[in-house]
Amino acid sequence: MNLLIQNGRLIDPASATDARLDVLVVDGVITRIASGIRPEGSCEVIDASGCIVVPGLIDMHVHFREPGREDQETIIGGSIVAAKSGYTTVCTMPNTSPVIDSQALARFIIMEAEKGPINVYPIATITKGAKGEEISEMGELVKGGAVGFSDDGKPVMNSLIMRRALEYARLFDVPVISHAEDLQLSDDGIMNEGFNSINLGIKGIPREAEEVMISRDVLIARLTGGRLHIAHVSSGGSVDIIRRAREAGVNVTCETAPHYFSLTDAAIEEHLSMAKMNPPLRTEEDRLKIIEGLKSGVIDVIATDHAPHLKYEKMQEIDYTPFGIIGLETAVPLIITVLVQKYGFSYLEAFSKVTSNPARILRLDSGVLAEGKKADITVINPERKVAITEEFIISRCKNTPFIGTELSGSVEYTICGGSIVYRR
Ligand SMILES: [Zn+2]
Ligand SMILES: [Zn+2]
Repeated sequence: MNLLIQNGRLIDPASATDARLDVLVVDGVITRIASGIRPEGSCEVIDASGCIVVPGLIDMHVHFREPGREDQETIIGGSIVAAKSGYTTVCTMPNTSPVIDSQALARFIIMEAEKGPINVYPIATITKGAKGEEISEMGELVKGGAVGFSDDGKPVMNSLIMRRALEYARLFDVPVISHAEDLQLSDDGIMNEGFNSINLGIKGIPREAEEVMISRDVLIARLTGGRLHIAHVSSGGSVDIIRRAREAGVNVTCETAPHYFSLTDAAIEEHLSMAKMNPPLRTEEDRLKIIEGLKSGVIDVIATDHAPHLKYEKMQEIDYTPFGIIGLETAVPLIITVLVQKYGFSYLEAFSKVTSNPARILRLDSGVLAEGKKADITVINPERKVAITEEFIISRCKNTPFIGTELSGSVEYTICGGSIVYRR
């Protein structure tokens, strides 16, 4: 089936294109981008009036829980949620059970994903068993399809292991993705340490737990020349550290998540464990610095850190509930509502964080709208209101503090490899 997407506003951050252009897709490939293309032959026409047409979104940080916790989410189930959310490519974090530390397990993720609607690339562990003691078989894992390495969920506390990982991963031109947390400093805290944690009597995690580890990691990246990517930046101080490291020529990129530019630790009082995540939500000052970091380009990527947990797990006392919230289905509405509508980001700026930038970091041949490229395309109506309700959330876990809110920015179509994998 051929496709013609007409009357939309085409946003392609890779080529800095923002123009009214139609897109013709033949046999899964974008064959023409021009104005006033007429349909020919058997061709489904999508009327994208009032919509933006962007490259299929890329989320480089999700947790799909398979193997091990298929009751929370599966690779196929998560892929369907991602397609509905405008994503055509996601990278799964390896802290499953077992962890993804062998070629066979990396291949399992890819083979399982082939039955689903979108592209899924595994990130494999930095260390065997994610124990932080011994580097994993990186060469084998890259051959098995791994596009990056991370012990996400926990940091690599041993600096020498981190050095070896950055040196070794360099040989394969893949990033080492750091869950930056000094475990001694975070000391089993629950939320950001500050006025609100004291007020609520909940144990705090100082922002320094994150900043100390990012400082260490950028220094080791400087030492090794390895490619470092910092996951889920939450503190304003972290943005400063990464900016300075970059200015000094260190090979470091980073991501933040929509909740860090949308919420602060004040959300804990209202949402309790539904707003419990690691790193924790910080203060208004941090939130504004995250937005500034996105605007200035210090923060390259918006990734969701989509972390499904079942209701009964999140209904316990806040001290005992797991960290994390789901993020796929609220990502586009938050990017539009907060960054574009409230803080004046252009569509090119905002959508570079979920298309061309993650593609560049992961060396993916996607995240771009150009003739000759695979047709991964997302059509979004930025003005259409989206009510975030339990019914709206199709993810089998509904752990998000955004339920009950109304946002702008509705995913209308998701097209992956020329096939419509979601239509509203
Ligand atoms: Zn993490
Ligand atoms: Zn994560």
